[in-house]
Amino acid sequence: MFFYQDIVTMKLKIFLIAGLFFSGCTTPTKMTKTGNGFADNIIVAHRGAWKKNQLPENSIAALKEAIALGCTGSEFDVRMTADDSLIVNHDPDYHKLVIEKTNYTQLAEYKLSNGEKIPTLQEYLLAGLQNNKRTRLVLEIKPSDVSKERGKLIAEKAVKLVHELGARHMTVYISFDYDILKKIHELDASASTQYLDGNRSPEELKADGITGADYHYSVFRKHPEWIESAKRNKIILNAWTVNAAAEMDWLLDQQFDFITTNEPELLFERIRLVNEKKK
Ligand code: MG
Repeated sequence: MFFYQDIVTMKLKIFLIAGLFFSGCTTPTKMTKTGNGFADNIIVAHRGAWKKNQLPENSIAALKEAIALGCTGSEFDVRMTADDSLIVNHDPDYHKLVIEKTNYTQLAEYKLSNGEKIPTLQEYLLAGLQNNKRTRLVLEIKPSDVSKERGKLIAEKAVKLVHELGARHMTVYISFDYDILKKIHELDASASTQYLDGNRSPEELKADGITGADYHYSVFRKHPEWIESAKRNKIILNAWTVNAAAEMDWLLDQQFDFITTNEPELLFERIRLVNEKKK
């Protein structure tokens, strides 16, 4: 009887160990190098997931839709008003007012097309932290048209706010302004930073502590050697703004870490088809 129980216990242990082993092996797609608990796909919704439901770009509703879809990231653009408020908007102007020359209260008089107030960065980050552990907040800092120094001030304020709100683990910083990214790295050496302008090799990024190359996909067509050197140098690969199936398929084939798109639903479908082919 004693012997029989021993065998049962042993079988149970083998079963449990095998279960753990196989569950580890069947993770559907590779997790990105920085990821922990984020959605297991490579989709970054560009300015949120706005297109399908005709939401305003960069609205909190578009961010919430990206979270609801289960994108691994949702991107948004940050600018600073004349009175130093950080707000989320793509263009340098809003309702014909130049953001950098207008105070926040004046801008807030105009609503987005869905009735939302133009979001402050604080409101946007808080919405991104609410009921969300799976979607990264991909925070683009737009270069300042006033001065390089003002651009760095925006970076300082954004990093401070991200830290105060406890959004550090969720945030990826991106910018076309290399000095803004270097400033962020100086302020937080563990910050995830991706450069957008496509004119620096992965080796250069690595030397400056920048963690990713987030370039227009045509840059990677022109410099396919950068894909290999990014992988060798552990530089994250991201491409924007990829809206056609053929480009998505090529980047999936190249095993990019992220793809930034206005068409997250289409990219989900392309990933599904790729995974189906593998079976
Ligand atoms: Mg952007």
